[in-house]
Amino acid sequence: MSAFDYDLFVIGGGSGGVRAARIAASEHGAKVAMAEEFRMGGTCVIRGCVPKKLMVFAAGHGAAIDDAAAYGWQVEKGRFDWTAFRKRLDAELNRLESIYTRNAETAGVTILHQRATVTGSHTVRLADGREISAKHILIATGGTPFVPEPYAGIEGVMTSNEVFLMDALPASMLVLGGGFIACEMAGIMQGLGVQVTQMYRGEQILRGFDSDLQEHVAAALVQQGIALETHTDLTALERGADGGYMATDTQGRRRRFDAVLFATGRVPNTRGLGLESAGVAMDKAGAVTVDAYSQTNVPSIFAVGDVTNRIQLTPVAIREGHAFADTVFGGTPVSVDHSDVASAVFTRPEAGTVGLTEAEAAARGPIEVYMASFRPMQSAFIGADTKALFKLVVCAVTRRVLGLHIVAPGAGELIQIAAVAVKMGATKDDFDRTVAVHPTMSEELVLLRKPTRTT
Ligand code: FAD
Repeated sequence: MSAFDYDLFVIGGGSGGVRAARIAASEHGAKVAMAEEFRMGGTCVIRGCVPKKLMVFAAGHGAAIDDAAAYGWQVEKGRFDWTAFRKRLDAELNRLESIYTRNAETAGVTILHQRATVTGSHTVRLADGREISAKHILIATGGTPFVPEPYAGIEGVMTSNEVFLMDALPASMLVLGGGFIACEMAGIMQGLGVQVTQMYRGEQILRGFDSDLQEHVAAALVQQGIALETHTDLTALERGADGGYMATDTQGRRRRFDAVLFATGRVPNTRGLGLESAGVAMDKAGAVTVDAYSQTNVPSIFAVGDVTNRIQLTPVAIREGHAFADTVFGGTPVSVDHSDVASAVFTRPEAGTVGLTEAEAAARGPIEVYMASFRPMQSAFIGADTKALFKLVVCAVTRRVLGLHIVAPGAGELIQIAAVAVKMGATKDDFDRTVAVHPTMSEELVLLRKPTRTT
């Protein structure tokens, strides 16, 4: 008999926690309990990737109606019915939540639907007061939206946590932030018929992405009708008597918006978690500090996913959760390779990226940049200005493709496939040897003969 109640106690039923719990229980026979204080599935399923992508699809249909008319279809575009969409969205999220719950339970995981906090290196306390002991504790509490101090308490101001729960679509919305969530939400809302102003205090949106990709997406947002205001920050925000908001900015403007969405970053969800009581080390941002095997400085406590602030993406959290379970309960130490992780930004058109940006690659040595920016056939035909970008960043010495950046319809799907080649270490010559698929946009990837620039 074990001296502990469980072999593993997981705090957080999101992407990383659920995978870790399931693998530890079903594949390695561990006795596992998991606490989830909100809804099973976590951010990705309940208030992140999934509802967002469904809204991207909804918004995309609006644009498709416009395109269809230009192609000759006799169609009339009505208004978007948010209430009908919300009903369907709620049903879908309920369905997914129950699948997550069922899968974890089938794997033998005991789910406790309440908050848990750490009280020691082997103990947690549940909201109902129960103390539970476990040989290992996994912190998988994710992240939470960050709202700058003066605006945090203003009634009705939204973050990505609330935006999927709106009762009605506003006529106008101020979206604050320049990250991928801000850009996606701006694009979605504008696509659904909301007049969007996106305000970002930095120089260019999508900080950290390749500069050509940044510029392409920024131009696409503007072309879509979004008022994109960079180098601009809020200086004051007040709730008006009519339920709207008066926003004053660093350009001295004072404007009214029906709704305000803060997409100004996310912070690790460690506040009040009791990690200090167990002596778990965290960085300045509150992220749990871990080694390559997701182990903290307290040997019995591990952490995976957004709470560790490595790469805040669902597939990364899942990998880390799986690797943790195999390492601790499977007897095979597995570390996650965080290099060349592909990702997408679901704007219109989408952006997809893998590997190094041009600036990162240039800082490491001589490079060649191959780039094509053009109006794809389907846009050119109807006189739309939508432009696609295909960009390869190549090491001038080894010819290896170090980075690949795409802005194009379906770029999220394209980058997944292209990422395999980049991960395998494909060279520019491998791309050149590949015969094009015609007529497609992505044939450009294998037809870029002359470098646009070398540095
Ligand atoms: P989470 O999924 O956040 O799960 C943590 C869970 O822990 C939550 O359910 C929370 O309720 C629970 N919890 C926290 N504290 C406690 C406690 N003390 N006791 C009990 N339970 C607790 N990633 C992508 O890869 N692609 C995308 O397109 C994408 N889009 C996104 C869009 C939005 C709007 C947002 C917000 C995120 C998006 N992400 C996307 C990021 C992705 O959602 C996260 O990287 C992923 O969910 C991280 O998983 P996790 O397991 O670390 O944490």
